[in-house]
Amino acid sequence: MNDCLFCKIIAGEVPSGKVYENDKVYAFRDINPQAPVHLLIVPKKHFDNILQCDAETAAALTEAVRAVAEQEGVAESGFRIVSNCGRDGAQSVNHLHIHLLGGAALTEKMA
Ligand code: AMP
Repeated sequence: MNDCLFCKIIAGEVPSGKVYENDKVYAFRDINPQAPVHLLIVPKKHFDNILQCDAETAAALTEAVRAVAEQEGVAESGFRIVSNCGRDGAQSVNHLHIHLLGGAALTEKMA
């Protein structure tokens, strides 16, 4: 998508704090972190939101959650994943992404 911020981040046209990448998935630090660890895990293929996601991509995202959680040291301590969808979900970037939050005991208010 020409005008998509996360497509531009994946392409390297906009800088990001990359933490993980494979052929299907890219993960980077949220610019406005809501927890000590706040990452965004995104498919390289553009989908507007979770409703458009195919099974292969969903599996790749799930695998990336595991890999990134282990890499960031929160797999044992625990973490939260969130994917906001649409207007009522308060989605602000229309490229499917999973927030991974951890590194502290989370309250209900975080993300
Ligand atoms: P959402 O509101 O669920 O669509 O989440 C979008 C997230 O993208 C927010 O948490 C923003 O802080 C984050 N964000 C926006 N622009 C950037 C950027 N350039 N680099 C990293 N994270 C960003």
